Amino acid sequence: MSELQLFDLPDPDPPEPADLPPLVSVAAEVPVPRLFTYRVPPELEAKVEVGVRVRVPFHGRTVSAFVVERPETSEVPVRKLKPLSAVLDEVAVLKPDVLELARWAAQYYRASLGEVLAAAIPKSVGGAPRGRDPARWVARLPGPLPKRLGKRQFAALEELEQGARPYTDLRAAGIPPHVLARLEELGLVTQHASAPGDDEVAQPPELTGEQRLVLAPLLKQIDEGRSGATLLFGVTGSGKTEVYLRAIERTLSLGKGAIVLVPEISLTPQTLARFRARFGETVAILHSQQKGYDRRKEWWRVHQGEARVVIGPRSAVWSPVSDLGLIVVDEEHENTYKQENNPRYNARDLAVVRGQQALAPVLLGSATPALESWRNARTGRYRLGRLMKRPGGAKLPRVRIVDMGREWAEVKRASLLSRLLVREAKLSLERKERVLLFQNRRGYTTYLQCKACGFVLKCKTCDISLTYHKRGEVVVCHFCDAHQRPPQDNCPDCLGPPLSQRGAGTERIEQVVGQIFPEAAVGRLDTDVIRGGETAEEVLARFAAGELDVLVGTQIVAKGLHVPAVTCVGVISADGSLALPDFRSSERTFQLIAQVAGRAGRGTRAGVTVVQTFTPEHFAIKAAAEHRYEAFASEELVQREALAYPPFGRLLKVLVRGPHEEQVAAYAAHLCAVLEALPEGAVTGVLGPAASPRAYLANKFRYQLLVKASAGGVRAALAALEAEKLPAHVERILDVDPFHLL
Ligand code: ADP
Ligand code: ZN
Repeated sequence: MSELQLFDLPDPDPPEPADLPPLVSVAAEVPVPRLFTYRVPPELEAKVEVGVRVRVPFHGRTVSAFVVERPETSEVPVRKLKPLSAVLDEVAVLKPDVLELARWAAQYYRASLGEVLAAAIPKSVGGAPRGRDPARWVARLPGPLPKRLGKRQFAALEELEQGARPYTDLRAAGIPPHVLARLEELGLVTQHASAPGDDEVAQPPELTGEQRLVLAPLLKQIDEGRSGATLLFGVTGSGKTEVYLRAIERTLSLGKGAIVLVPEISLTPQTLARFRARFGETVAILHSQQKGYDRRKEWWRVHQGEARVVIGPRSAVWSPVSDLGLIVVDEEHENTYKQENNPRYNARDLAVVRGQQALAPVLLGSATPALESWRNARTGRYRLGRLMKRPGGAKLPRVRIVDMGREWAEVKRASLLSRLLVREAKLSLERKERVLLFQNRRGYTTYLQCKACGFVLKCKTCDISLTYHKRGEVVVCHFCDAHQRPPQDNCPDCLGPPLSQRGAGTERIEQVVGQIFPEAAVGRLDTDVIRGGETAEEVLARFAAGELDVLVGTQIVAKGLHVPAVTCVGVISADGSLALPDFRSSERTFQLIAQVAGRAGRGTRAGVTVVQTFTPEHFAIKAAAEHRYEAFASEELVQREALAYPPFGRLLKVLVRGPHEEQVAAYAAHLCAVLEALPEGAVTGVLGPAASPRAYLANKFRYQLLVKASAGGVRAALAALEAEKLPAHVERILDVDPFHLL
């Protein structure tokens, strides 16, 4: 007997049943990372194509799924295959390029293709809306009349003689939609989503020299349809948006479409207005807070190619734009681009991937680029464009740093607002201008700091501030789980006074400000307020309208707020974000001060920003006050490299959770051992397992591991982790390129 015969060799040419039925492979909305094959019953065959949604039987229930392939054969014997239950769409909702991006994302972020597609194509999209938008407008187009024209066709043209009319008017005049459709085919009328106005297309300004320099290679790239990312590094108000507009204009002129990602749609009404003013109704807005009909209508306008420019938050990276020619990511450093539940994708990074797949340039804009992007620009992976001056020569806002250690010594008490901040706020209020106070305080974080020297207690191995737990009187590193007693006596750094517990939230500041300025109307904006029922837009609108004189808020107010009457901005404690237990804390602090300062003096009057800190010498604070991003970035990159944090390596966060703490802890420890057993060099370090900072949430205990590795190392780690069997009652959540480490 030859050796080969020991193996059960596959039949080289399996006999196929002559009447093999039509099959589909679907991505079902279940967390199982594989496709499933179904039979197509004869009555559904005509409706099935790649990209339609279907209902399929799945373990005794019916689930939604996307048809992604039409296989010829099946591994499972055909007689065992179940039939599709229903076909939901008349047109493929999923376009090939979106499917390609989804496949990439599913692989990279370790989600099932069905879950990614469910995030990419929201349910509320429904089917294509029937007929046309009833609120549309109709206009006559110039051109000779054909010899023969129906009576009602002629009547319709007469109705339009004096200019565009809402469709409802024509309906009232007895003109049915099919008559208009015929006239549209003949090229005699057009139908629009909104009133066509002459003033709609705004006159663009003359470009500055800097803008032209940035645009020249980009326009060429658009013309040639070459992929590649450009980092547009430009201070706030330097004219980045104008660069986006010009690049989009060129893209449209080639008959292609564009996607513009913004961090948060609700806070960018001015930006939206500018896009609408420039491009009119070819602009569509897609976001998840849109009401059913609006969302469905906008989505289909994009799908059908009626709208060619999409603006939206991270989910807009999945927009069904056909013939994509450009992607813009505004404020590319923003954390809102990372989705914090499954699939945990980063839309900025997916934008770069989609651009590569579509041969479309990608433009990433920021005044404070993420260090990952900055490094990519420095190493030549991205092109770097700079806008260092504001058009018209407007000055960057003045930033003044107050050393709170000195302040407290001088006023002999622990004041929240320094004398300088009170003085500047008072001046603004007297001039009937507005004051914005910022405190980025997350409820669960308290940390220990020296009043005299500003020293913050940090973990020796992770360089991350330790979190103080009143219960048990311990300080804990939420990365490596090192526990220690807080130093009882003197500051370990300057041997001065004992460390004090720090942190005052927005609520307390609101109260103190009310006491200092009893006349002023003081408002607050943070997630508590929003949970209380008022939306961020409502609070901001009251502030903009002058109903509020002072607004105290968390980072929500730092994003894109544009209230020209704000002339005084105060950062209550820049140390709060520096002390966050996260290796990105310096970067966040820099971004925050730069962004907050950008809120001051947007109008004609110059503004001042007061930054209060116990660490006035900290390089992130000093660099931000002087508007020196590059100096900050060089110094920060040295520290990142020393500790192998991104961008010098990748991170993978592994969260294990379940109802039984011992089981969760044991499994986390087991995964840690699995990672440590990987071949030398694959993984640079494994931090943890540690109880996650929110150690008990929704009746589940949570433990986490943080893996530092090269890109290849992350792949190896993922493969090793996924090969491990998951015990009952334990969940394992993998977060590739995590943003928040808590
Ligand atoms: P950014 O997006 O960098 O914050 P914007 O594009 O919004 O900057 O520009 C800031 C301001 O400068 C806007 O009011 C804009 O209209 C104006 N602006 C932009 N480019 C020019 C230009 N070339 N000439 C004159 N004004 C300009
Ligand atoms: Zn540590």
